[in-house]
Order: sequence, then structure tokens, then C-alpha cells
Amino acid sequence: MSRIRLLPDILVKKIAAGEVIERPASVVKELMENAVDAGAKRIAVSIEQGGTSLIRVSDDGCGMSAEELALAVQAHATSKITEEDDLYRIASLGFRGEALASVGSVSNLRLVSRPSESDEGAEIVVVAEEVQANRAAGSSVGTVVEVRDLFFNVPARRKFLRAPGTEYGHISSQFLRIALAHPEVAFELKNNGRVVHQLPSQPVRRERIARFYSQELADALLEIRRDEAGLSIEGYAAPPADARSSSTWQLTFLNGRHIRDRNIQHAIREAYRGLIDPNRNPIVFLFMTIDPQSVDVNVHPTKIEVRWRDARLVHSQVLSALRETLQRADLTPKLSADRAVGRPVDPEAQARVLREFAEEFKRTPPMQPSLSFNPESGSIARHREFDTRPSPDGPSGTDLWRTMYTPAPDVPPAAPADDGVGALAGALETSRGAIQLHNTYLVCETDDGLVIIDQHALHERILFEQFKDRIASGKLESQRLLLPETLAVTPAQIALLDTHADVLDRIGLEVSRFGTDTIAVQAAPSLFKDNDVVGLLRDLLDMLEQKTESPSTEEITYDILSMMACKAAVKAGDALTPDEITALVSRKGLVEKSSNCPHGRPTTLRMTVKDLERQFKRT
Ligand code: ADP
Ligand code: MG
Repeated sequence: MSRIRLLPDILVKKIAAGEVIERPASVVKELMENAVDAGAKRIAVSIEQGGTSLIRVSDDGCGMSAEELALAVQAHATSKITEEDDLYRIASLGFRGEALASVGSVSNLRLVSRPSESDEGAEIVVVAEEVQANRAAGSSVGTVVEVRDLFFNVPARRKFLRAPGTEYGHISSQFLRIALAHPEVAFELKNNGRVVHQLPSQPVRRERIARFYSQELADALLEIRRDEAGLSIEGYAAPPADARSSSTWQLTFLNGRHIRDRNIQHAIREAYRGLIDPNRNPIVFLFMTIDPQSVDVNVHPTKIEVRWRDARLVHSQVLSALRETLQRADLTPKLSADRAVGRPVDPEAQARVLREFAEEFKRTPPMQPSLSFNPESGSIARHREFDTRPSPDGPSGTDLWRTMYTPAPDVPPAAPADDGVGALAGALETSRGAIQLHNTYLVCETDDGLVIIDQHALHERILFEQFKDRIASGKLESQRLLLPETLAVTPAQIALLDTHADVLDRIGLEVSRFGTDTIAVQAAPSLFKDNDVVGLLRDLLDMLEQKTESPSTEEITYDILSMMACKAAVKAGDALTPDEITALVSRKGLVEKSSNCPHGRPTTLRMTVKDLERQFKRT
């Protein structure tokens, strides 16, 4: 180990800058917060090349004099706190006095500003922390901050920057958060010279939400309002049916600042418990106000986390506020049906999927039939006599009864043998049919005991394997929709779709832009055409937005396939006909190699006769 020594000042600053300035979006956040703190009524943000070549934030706030400009770019220079006690009652967004100094140490920084009481403006230029110029300049009241060539002197950071489209996506989410938190301020966002958002001062937050998301969502939102125990909570919650696969649709603000807080996330989940599928996340916007002395915001360099003086109180207030809102909306009648789990199920579409699935299964060539053929068992030969085609007059109660109870060999066993897949599964497993329990589980007898199958998990896994096989041999077959389906999207989401155009193409999803904030799905994978294509795309976008690292094409492809499988698969609660049960169970061998559904849940539980004997104390 080398000797301990003090780091040079510039290095210290670069390290500190690394904490606050992680990527272009961090700069945008700091500069916009400064503008809000300066009391601006209008804030304009302009971005070029994902913020790597230019970030410009202009405001009409209080401005700075030439002397103040010189101070502002120095580390630990702030006008927002003066003594230690101020730290415990922070009402402004900034207070650390670090942002401008940090930005100045890793970019070319230029500020032009004029305070309202002065007739003349001033300009300061900082390149890699060196003040290059501080002179008079023409300016209107307010401040313009320009950041060029971010990280030009920090190659390590530069290397970690993603494609401009991705960086712009992060910027756009920061912009969204600040604009939602401060509806009274007018905002503008330009990307590469094009105006993306033009938001007038708008005291009604719901309107702003409509501008960012969609009018449809904004209209559906339920209003939250509670002011008790020193905590005021305002906001909006979407009905359970609108729950999403990602939690990026939960935004929490405290005293005008976006925060992330486990405690609050937990309260939100609690409030929706039983109303939505536990894997999904409700859409909730919470705007809270509390006495700054009741919360410590100085726990995280980017101030995204806070420490509450009384976290339990906050939890219970948020929970009550949400419960009241959901109860008032009287969602109860809808809860019993599929809406409760947030994905409307079209029973016909699903029946079709199952039918095609059964057909497909008959057509598929045998998979390594020799692998598990057991000449001694004789079961394969017996299976050959089987016909899984539905009886002409459809499945009846009697059929079901026969499939379940009549003993072999008089009874049609459940699996067609020459498929080879059934053989893989262990031919006898299905020969005595399966029983569906609670419209959710399938139980079958096996050679040495029994298996309990989760019908959704198994079907999902089978479809996933099928999709994977198909895509291994090229693109998925695509089919045009009779009527294109549309979906409201954000500019960041459009950028994501552009970035991943090759994956969409491979999957067979054809999407085109339709105005500035809508996309139209023109074609969908044939294997998926009867399912909820818009829902798939929505979950896909949520997934892409959540990825922090640039995911590989392969990874995204698999993620999409697993979403498709999940959506197309029968659900828990779907009653299945005997043929469907047969088709499903006999394909079990296909997924035997990994008995987890793509989400990692098990598809099958096994119990041997020995286990039973042990349980019943027969041994
Ligand atoms: P902090 O916001 O934590 O105080 P910054 O480095 O972001 O630290 O800013 C330093 C100081 O520069 C602020 O305290 C404020 O006085 C001044 N300042 C920064 N941006 C603006 C702006 N847009 N308008 C007016 N004053 C500003
Ligand atoms: Mg600041």
C-alpha cells in the first residue's frame, strides 16, 4: 500500500461532483431546482445530444449580480442557509451549495444573470473549474445557465454515458418530476431544437398530468386529499385496474421535491392490497407538505431520500388517505371480476389461444422421442391409441368424469404419445387424466405419487419455450391488425422505441408514430394477435424505462417473450375443459428441464407416495 496523502483539490472536487452529477439528467435537475428556488415563473430547458453537448436552463427568477455569480460557482457557496440550525428547517430545494461548483469542475459552464434591481447583467465563464471571464453582459432579469461538453475532462464518466436518446429519456423524467411538483411555474422543454413540452402555469395538477401522460389517465384519476397531524397530502390515485408492471408510475413529492421513500411505497402497496395483483403497481401521485423541521433532507447527495422524524405517522397518514380515496370511489363491485387484478381478460381470446395451442401441439414434430421411451412400461404403446380431438358435441360433464375416474386401459388416456413430449414427461403421469381444482391447479397421478400444477405458471412456461424456439430460427411471424390500436406515450418512450426498433421488428411488433404523443400498433406477433397488444406494449415501455443499464438485445427479447407468455397464458381462475387440461398437462415435458415459469415461480409441486405415507404415518 502506498502512503496516505491528501488529494489535490481538483480531484476532491471531481469526486464530489461524481456524487451529485452522475449524468446529464442530474445537471438538468440541479439547474431547474435552482431556478425554482430563485422564484422563477417561467423556466425553459434546452437539450442537445442527450445533454452531452448542451444543457441550457433559463429562468426569470431573482438573478445574481456579478459578485454573486463569482460566489455561486464556488464550492459550498449558497444563499439558502446561513447557520447550522437552518439545516433542520430547509424550505428550498438546494442548500448544499455544491451543484454549480460541481458542474463547473466537469464541463464548460457559462452563466448570464441580472438581478431585478440592476440595469445591467453579468456573465461568468468557467472551464474545468477555472474562472475564465467575469464581465458585464446584456441580459434580461433572471438567469441563463449553459453547460457544454459535460464530462469532457472525466473520461471514465463519459464512457458510462448511454446513447443520447437514453440520456434524453432520463432528462425528460427529471423534467417531468419538477414540472409536476411546481404546476404554478410555466415550463418549456426543447430537445435538439424541437419543442417537446410547452406547459403554461397551471394550478390544477391533474391538467399537467394529462399533458405528460394522457387525458384518459388524468380523467380516471381519483383525488386524494388529507390534512392531519401536520402532514398535508394531496394527489391522485388511479383505480386498481390501471395498475402497471413497473413502479415508475408512482411519484412521491415532499415540500416540492421528488423523493423516493420505502415507507411510503409500502403504505401505497398496503392500500391497494387485495385490489390488484401483487406483481403490479398502482399509479399514484402524492404531493405532501410537512413542516421542514419534521424531516431531514440532508441524508443523500441528490436529496432523493429523506429521514422522517415520525415515519410511522407518515405511513399511517398515507395509508388512510389512499384507503379513503379508494373507498369513496366505491370500487367494490368491480373488484370481484378480472378488473381486480388489473388485466381485463377476454375469455374468448383465451379459449382461442388454448385451441390453437392444442392444434399446434398436434402438429409439432416429436422432440427426441427416443430419449425417454421405456419399452418395459408399455405405456407409450397404449398412448398411441389416443385421440385428443374434442368430441364433436364438445366436452361434457360425462367426458370430464370419464377422463378423471375411469381406470386405464378402457379409458382414453390423456396424452397423445407419438408427440414424444408426453413421453418425456413420464408417460404415466398423464394417463389417468388430471383434475382441475379451484380453477387454478391441476392434479395428476404419477408413477410414484402425484403432481400439482399451477395452470398459469405451466402454460406460461410452455408458451415461453415455444416463443423462444420460434425466435431462435429467425423473426416471429407478424400479422397486421384489422384496426391499428393506439397508445398515448411520452417523448422519452418514443425515444426508447426508436432505440429498440430492431427488437420490435424481430418480435413482429410493428409500431408507428401517430402525432406527437401517440403511437399506433399496426401489426402484432401472430402468436399473440388475440391478446392485449396495447397492454403488452405498455408493460414493455415500463420495463425499458426501468432498466438503468443498457440492456442487450437478447435480454430485451427474452423479457418481451416472457411478457407475451404471461399475457397469453390461461389465468388462475379460468375454468378449463378436459381437452384443454389434457393439452396442457401433456406438454409438461417440454418445460420439465426447468420447472419454473419465466418469472421464476415453480410450475409444479411433486409429492411421492413415500411422502404421503410419511405424512399419514403409515411407515
Ligand atoms: P445550492 O442550490 O445548494 O445553494 P448551487 O451550487 O446550486 O447551490 O447554487 C449556488 C447559489 O447560486 C445558490 O445558493 C443561489 O444563491 C445561486 N443561484 C444558482 N442558480 C441560480 C438561479 N438560477 N437564479 C438565482 N440564483 C441562483
Ligand atoms: Mg442548487
